[in-house]
Amino acid sequence: MEEETLIILKPDCIEKKCVGQVLERFERAGFCFAQARVLRLEGTLLREHYAHIAQKPFFPEVEAFMTRCPLLFFVLRGKNVVERVRDLLGPTDSKKADKGTIRGDFGTDVMHNIAHASDSLESAALEIQRFFGKR
Ligand code: ADP
Repeated sequence: MEEETLIILKPDCIEKKCVGQVLERFERAGFCFAQARVLRLEGTLLREHYAHIAQKPFFPEVEAFMTRCPLLFFVLRGKNVVERVRDLLGPTDSKKADKGTIRGDFGTDVMHNIAHASDSLESAALEIQRFFGKR
């Protein structure tokens, strides 16, 4: 079954100029780009997207990090794309991510971890709707 997931390339990815290399990994895994846009993630959109961490003590830092520059958003399509992209990324903490994963190769730490990918089919549907609207 074809699925879709939401990818956000974060400020560290853009500033380190590894956008091309990260996108290439998705292409090499056989996935297709269904939609793309450039957007600042701030205000209500940011608070909705990160509602699950809004009460954490580190949230102000995440907010400052994520609003550093406009971000790249993609809808990625393919077989089991939600789970397989999370595997390609590696765990949230880049320091704990194996080499060969995107976060292990390009990330810095638990916050500066290169990319967001939806964590379930349900959140993918919500996140795609949030950032790309109804199709
Ligand atoms: P993931 O992005 O892997 O699904 P979470 O949803 O738990 O992880 O967290 C959202 C984002 O918040 C992470 O990608 C990371 O940028 C940041 N973050 C998570 N935990 C921490 C932490 N302990 N300290 C700083 N930033 C964090």
